Order: sequence, then structure tokens, then C-alpha cells
Amino acid sequence: MKRIRKAAVIGSGVMGSSIAAHLVNVGIPTTLLDIVPNEVTAAEKAKGLTLQDKAVRNRIVNQSLKSLTKQKPAALTVKENIDLITVGNLEDDLEALNEVDWIIEVVVENLEVKKKVFEKVDAHRKPGTIVSSNTSGISIHDMSADCSDDFKAHFLGTHFFNPPRYLKLLEIIPTEYTKNDVVEYMKTFGEDVLGKGVVVCKDTPNFIANRIGTYGLQVTVEEMIKGGFTIGEIDSVSGPLIGRPKSATFRTLDVVGLDTFVHVANNVREQVSDESEKAVFEIPDFIQTMVEKGWIGSKAKQGFYLKK
Ligand code: NAD
Repeated sequence: MKRIRKAAVIGSGVMGSSIAAHLVNVGIPTTLLDIVPNEVTAAEKAKGLTLQDKAVRNRIVNQSLKSLTKQKPAALTVKENIDLITVGNLEDDLEALNEVDWIIEVVVENLEVKKKVFEKVDAHRKPGTIVSSNTSGISIHDMSADCSDDFKAHFLGTHFFNPPRYLKLLEIIPTEYTKNDVVEYMKTFGEDVLGKGVVVCKDTPNFIANRIGTYGLQVTVEEMIKGGFTIGEIDSVSGPLIGRPKSATFRTLDVVGLDTFVHVANNVREQVSDESEKAVFEIPDFIQTMVEKGWIGSKAKQGFYLKK
């Protein structure tokens, strides 16, 4: 099995760009690939965003990874390593996948989109290359169902938490096909090279942290509505005052992205069979409305809070 000396991250959104920054911070040359946008969502249209704006914004995000040094605190903590990131697009630059030892998929939380990405990855990777998904909870087994045997043997979930520069947890999710030495290697690599605390999870809907985390959020919202509490009140009793460094319930949701939260909650709702459990994972109406309006959190500069 190959040792990881070079990596590729597919998807340069909230998580992909900060995972790439984390890899570069520890000195791993990383290629960051994304699609060139070809549609504007209803929420983006409502905000007056055109395809041209979106393409330009993506180019800025992709080509000026310096933005990662401007975040407070910066995702790219070792600024001089910026040259270790190469950017490219998912149509024209796939041959880059042939040169890396680890490919991490970090695109939207949608099984079909991820499967299409893995079809391309399978066709362009070298045998033996480790491939992983940063999914929040889609079945790792289902994502790789149509891939080659060598791909399946080297495929697993590597679930980073947001923001990766702060949160040490890394869930590792093997399937029944993942080779043991790949799992063992990724555990050691995650701990020793990436500085993470690794928990190996079963391939159950939303794994462990998001299964209980999403449940907790849904129940919080239910009790908030029943009790007539405000968003501010919930955040004041679930943030720094109880020892959480910065984030509280709804602030965290803004950082995660409400669109991503909806995908994650829907994912577990679709996969559980018990009707009462399904009901718990229904998306509250006000969150649905916020997503429709494009108020999806920090990345849109508007969520429960305005991003300054
Ligand atoms: P995001 O919306 O910020 O970024 C998604 C990226 O996917 C974008 O760069 C977009 O261009 C790309 N994309 C969209 N359609 C695509 C397609 N058809 N083919 C290829 N790429 C496409 O999302 P994110 O928050 O970075 O989430 C990415 C993944 O990480 C998801 O699986 C999510 O569940 C998971 N995750 C998110 C968080 C979080 O806090 N946001 C935490 C852990 C895991």
C-alpha cells in the first residue's frame, strides 16, 4: 500500500478548502479540484446572483487560496506553504488524480453526485491509491457500490469536523471491503500526521457524531418552540458560558451551512425505519424557509446571524 505523500481534495467549498489547508499546513502537497458552476440555484437567484458572478467567485476561491489566510483565525496557518496547493477543475484536470496517494471527496451531500465523482476517480486513480469521502452520513458502502474491487479495497469514510483546524475529531468509516491495513494506516496517519483523535465507526446513517448531534439539534428546536425560547437564549446557554470555546447551537449551524444540515438530517430520516425516529428528523419549517431564501449561514453571509 502507498504511503501518503501527496493528496487531492475534490470540492473546494466550506470543508474542502479547509481540509486542503489542513493538509498543506502539515506539509502535504495538495491538488484542489472543483466544478465550474453551470447553474444558479433558486436561493442564489433570489439574492440576485448570476452564473457569471458565481463563476468569478469560484475562480476567486480557487485561485486565490490566500483567502484561507484571511479567515480569523486563518485556515492556512503555515502561510508560506500556500504554494503546496494546486487548483484545477474537475473536467480538465483529472489526470492529477493519477499522481496522488490519497483522494478525498468533499462535494455536496448527495449520493448520486458523489457516485458520479467516484466513477471519474476510479477511472483516473492509480491502483492502490486511498480514496475517502468526507460525507456527513451517507452510506460509504452505497457510494462505492459501482466501483472496481481495487477501489473498494482502498475506500473508506474520513469525516472531518468543521472547522478542521480546531476540531480534533476524525471519524473513520470502513466498509466490509476496506482492507485492514488501509484502516490501520489511516488511523495512524490521522493521529500522527494530521493531529486528529480518531474514532472508527460503523457505516450506519450519519455514523456516530452526526447521528446524536442532529438528534440533539432537532430536539432542541422542538423544545425551543414549545417553551417559547429565543435563538439568542438557546445560544447563550449552549456556548461559551458553559465552556464551549466559541460556538453555540445556532452559531454552529451557521458555520456548518443550513443547506448541508438539511441534507444531513434528511439522510438519516430516509435511512431509519422507525416512524417515530423518522419524525424526529423532520426539518423544522423555519429552517426550510431560511434555506429557500438563501439564508444558509456564514457562507452566504446571512443565517441566524449576519456575518460581519
Ligand atoms: P459546500 O456547499 O460548501 O461545498 C460543496 C462543493 O461541492 C462546492 O464547492 C461545489 O462546487 C461542489 N459541487 C457541487 N455540485 C457538484 C457536482 N455535481 N460535482 C462535483 N462537485 C460539486 O459544502 P461543504 O459544507 O463543504 O460540504 C461538503 C461535504 O462535507 C458534504 O458531504 C458535507 O456533508 C460534508 N461535511 C460538511 C461539514 C460542514 O460543517 N459544512 C462538516 C463535515 C462534513
